[in-house]
Amino acid sequence: MPGPGFGLRVEPFLPSVTLVTRSLPGSYDFPVTAALVAGTRHRVVVDTLIEPADMAPFAGATLVVYTHSDWDHCWGTAAFPGVPVIGHRLTRERLTAPEADEALAQMRAANPAAFANSQVVPPDLTFSDRLTIDAGGLTVELHHLPGHTADSAVVHVPELGLLLAGDAVETPIPTLSEPGHIRRWAASLRQWSRAGVRHVVPGHGRPGGPELLAENAAYIERLAEAAEAGLERGQSVEEMAAALPLTALLPAASVDQLPPYYRQQHRENIAQIVAELKAERTAR
Ligand SMILES: [Zn+2]
Repeated sequence: MPGPGFGLRVEPFLPSVTLVTRSLPGSYDFPVTAALVAGTRHRVVVDTLIEPADMAPFAGATLVVYTHSDWDHCWGTAAFPGVPVIGHRLTRERLTAPEADEALAQMRAANPAAFANSQVVPPDLTFSDRLTIDAGGLTVELHHLPGHTADSAVVHVPELGLLLAGDAVETPIPTLSEPGHIRRWAASLRQWSRAGVRHVVPGHGRPGGPELLAENAAYIERLAEAAEAGLERGQSVEEMAAALPLTALLPAASVDQLPPYYRQQHRENIAQIVAELKAERTAR
């Protein structure tokens, strides 16, 4: 159903869980999703999207948690003045750094309408490995899952078999934003795929089941194998990308329909895994 913000879609997802999805500014086919988990003690918002208007469907929330510090997941928090915000220690570090406000200023200058009311709101409360919230009838567990970014976390609601994955899971393919934890990320996704989760909500793309975890893990593992072999042969990133096109990893018909972002991102993903493998080799 159309919501109050730009292209906002509100979706009752599970009992006590509502999703809100919108498009990124300037893009009609690139969605980003946030969630509300409503317990009897706490109404917990997981990510606040891009501007406060995106959060109108979640009015009355009593807690905000972040999956990571990327702008499309946390710039709407000003919708909840006085509400405690929880995030990873590194998310707080990133959102209190001057670069966070500079990024908002730059994007606002380029597109004033889209970001007029956006604000950088760092977490008040942080965790390192794991944090458990008793929301009343529902448990909201935050688990650090570095990979997409070093500060990434997933949100598990065990009573519902639900994993709100932030950008640790993305359909059709994950975005490897930075080297450092990419292989560990794939291993964590494999663990979660065997943890009895029934519903997986990606930060970008349609929700699904545990197969999304296995599919993202398999994609990262294939990339890591190809990059390892490519480095052995002295190949460039371009040569590796040519040898491992997206059509080799996804059904060809679906690749035709992908937003252009993912074709470009696939090449960038190879560059990031190559950077991680090179750093590992240097450290050896
Ligand atoms: Zn994102």
